Amino acid sequence: MLNMMIGFFKDLWKYRDKVKKQDKWMQKYIAQNNYALNPSWMMSTNLKIWVSEMEATFSKRFCPCFEPSSDPELNKKMMCPCEYVEDEIKEYGTCHCALFGSADLDKAGWKESSKRLMSEYQVPLNLKDGVLDTRRKPLDHRRNLPVPDAMHQLKATLNSYTGDSLKMIVETKQEVLNLEKIAFFRGYGCLSEEHTNHHEVVLQFRK
Ligand code: SF4
Repeated sequence: MLNMMIGFFKDLWKYRDKVKKQDKWMQKYIAQNNYALNPSWMMSTNLKIWVSEMEATFSKRFCPCFEPSSDPELNKKMMCPCEYVEDEIKEYGTCHCALFGSADLDKAGWKESSKRLMSEYQVPLNLKDGVLDTRRKPLDHRRNLPVPDAMHQLKATLNSYTGDSLKMIVETKQEVLNLEKIAFFRGYGCLSEEHTNHHEVVLQFRK
């Protein structure tokens, strides 16, 4: 928990200008659509940081909850604010990431949707002896993408991981490409190897 808090404030400082920029378009967007932003400062700020990080890593404003897919059409739909907002607000009261919600959603509704999101992402990691197997996660029924995906499993691992390197087992070539971009952006070493039914990616945190 302490590590997560330290990470949050470090990222907030790093992305402070970008977070302000995100807030600007988000305020306009909610006013135009009669939506609201998650009233939890911590939650909405975290999501603004993650949107900024997605934009910095992948050069486009991808949803903070899903890494880019291999399908360009789906990727277009996943730009924040994504094409699923209205539909998801009908289902959960908020979008998938609990960033935008209906203007009349009460505190309990926001809390419930935020809890739903946490329960999807705070799952036990398949991490053993420096190997993180990211496969076989449930799929989001709208995007057909895993939750949590390899990128979010890496993020969760790094909250407490102290090793110099990490081997990740992923299913698709797209996940390898995404990890390579993340590694490049964060200054990690990155080597990948293709196997018959999976790929292995070794991230080197300290050289
Ligand atoms: S789910 Fe929410 S945060 Fe994610 S892209 Fe859609 S609108 Fe943005």
